[in-house]
Formats: sequence, structure tokens, C-alpha cells
Amino acid sequence: DAKASTRGLRVFDPSLTAEDPRRLALVTELRTAVHEGQLEVHVQPQAEVLTGRVVSVEALVRWTHPQLGRVGPDEFIPVAERSGLIGPLTTLVLDRSLAAVAAWRAAGTDLSVAVNLSTRSLHDTDLVDEVARLLRRHDVPSDRLTLEVTEGSVMADPARTIAVLHQLRDLGCRLSVDDFGTGYSSLSYLKRLPVQEVKIDQSFVTGLRSGGEDVAIVRAIVDLGRHLGLAVVAEGVEDQETWDLLADTGCDLVQGWHLGRPMPTADLPGWLGDRARS
Ligand code: C2E
Ligand code: CA
Ligand code: CA
Ligand code: CA
Repeated sequence: DAKASTRGLRVFDPSLTAEDPRRLALVTELRTAVHEGQLEVHVQPQAEVLTGRVVSVEALVRWTHPQLGRVGPDEFIPVAERSGLIGPLTTLVLDRSLAAVAAWRAAGTDLSVAVNLSTRSLHDTDLVDEVARLLRRHDVPSDRLTLEVTEGSVMADPARTIAVLHQLRDLGCRLSVDDFGTGYSSLSYLKRLPVQEVKIDQSFVTGLRSGGEDVAIVRAIVDLGRHLGLAVVAEGVEDQETWDLLADTGCDLVQGWHLGRPMPTADLPGWLGDRARS
């Protein structure tokens, strides 16, 4: 019954039609990927801007498909969101991230991990229980887990999302606003969110070296963060000049290729060791 199945598909998701066959194919492939171990978690270091000391990492999911090769998270996270796979995917990333933190702790290295939460995860009623369960399973103190949310995901359903954020906060997790400055209502919402950190979006950080408006924007965000008692992280730091400029503004942490690229969790201790020796 073609008509009924078309209707079924429509109800399921109007954007998953023949007009985007790759996306449709990715749903099937992603389901397999989540359940058959094609997903990996990489981590990218974050350091104190003044001392260069690495204090945390951000977890970034990676997918290597047997035929398609590497598929970027910017492409498959939206697919996961639309197809009900974001729950299992988020659980997988949290599980691997906390397992890594636990292993590093056991070896004497105390690091925090930041995990990205997408809009749908924030609407998932199981999320808070999942986070609590995984913290217990890996015996990681809750303040070693930071959850990154974008302003857009908060805006999608502010009342509900803010309630979830408060529950995560009650567990003792840290909360961070990702891609800060790219949304429309950052300032008014920031006051209402129980967050401890803002991440200055890469687009502003990249423009720092050429001077101009981005310098003013970065300074304004850092000042705002300071006044609100929030830690400020700059992402997308690709060179020493940008790092130095950020040190001048009073930004707290830096993350980007100049410090280190995202790497498999197992490579981090070796990377830290090489860094300490050089
Ligand atoms: P994001 O959270 O803003 O992550 C930062 C992105 O910038 C990452 O891209 C990272 O690899 C890249 N990056 C880091 N340093 C530099 C740099 O110095 N220069 C440049 N040009 N880029 C840099 P990636 O890994 O491709 O992730 C893209 C987006 O996918 C992330 O943006 C995030 O929104 C989403 N994502 C990644 N992993 C997850 C996940 O586990 N869960 C969810 N929900 N979303 C994820
Ligand atoms: Ca992020
Ligand atoms: Ca970002
Ligand atoms: Ca982004």
C-alpha cells in the first residue's frame, strides 16, 4: 500500500523523502553503525590559556563507514536526531568518554571531559537517568563531566530544556554553552541558564588575528563571562598569535589545532607524555 507507506514516512519525518537519497541511506547505515561498533569517540585537549596545562578534553564522535569512509558529525548528527538514533548515540559517547576519564584517573591523570548534547537529547526524558547511571558505572565524579549545549537547542523548547539543565546541574555536572555568540538571544537567556561556562564560537576566534570586529566581540564575550562568573573557552585556536591574543583578553581555556587535533582516547596519555617532554 504505497499511499499508506508514503503517509507513514511523512508522519515519521517530512524531510526524509526521495529528494535526499543520501540522507535516507544514511539512516539505515547509521543504525548499523551505532549497533555494530563503527562509531568511535575522539578527544581534543583543552588547556589553560596562561599556563598551557591540559585540564580537559572535548569528546567528538567519529564514524568510519566500510564503503563511504569517513562521514562527518555535521552530516550524521542531524540524521541521528531525525531518526531516533540520537539517544543510543549520546549514550555511546557518554559511556566511552567516561570510560576514558576513569582509565586516565586510574593512571594518575585527572581530566574532565565535555560531551555535546543535541536538541533531541535534551528533550529525552531518560537523559538525566542515563547520565547518572553512567557516572556511577564508571565511578567518575560528576564535576568531571561537562555537558555542552547550544543556544539553538535551548531555544527549541526553553522551559523544558532549562528544567533538564537544572536536573543535570543537580547531579553535579558542569554545563557549557557551545557556539556562543552565534544565536539571537544569548544575553537574555544566559542569565536564566544554570551554566558554568561559555565557548566562544570558532568563527569569532578565527577572525582575531585580522583585528576588527571579531576582537571587539571576543572581548565582549570574555567580559560578560567574567561578570557572570563563568569560565570562558575559545575553540578553533589554530596558531600561537591567536592564543596570545586570547591570553590578553582574559579568556580561561583554549582548544584548537594549535594545541592538538581530536585523537583516539587511547592516544591521549602518549600525547600528554610527548608534550611534557618537549
Ligand atoms: P562543535 O561542538 O562546535 O565542535 C568543534 C568542531 O571544530 C569539531 O568538528 C572539531 O574537530 C573542530 N575543530 C577543533 N579545533 C579546530 C581548529 O583549530 N580549527 C578548525 N577549523 N576546526 C577545529 P567535528 O568533530 O567535525 O564536529 C562538528 C560538530 O558535530 C560539533 O561542533 C558538534 O556540534 C557535532 N558533534 C561532534 N561530536 C558530537 C557528539 O558526540 N554528539 C553531538 N550531539 N554532536 C556532536
Ligand atoms: Ca562542542
Ligand atoms: Ca562550536
Ligand atoms: Ca558547531
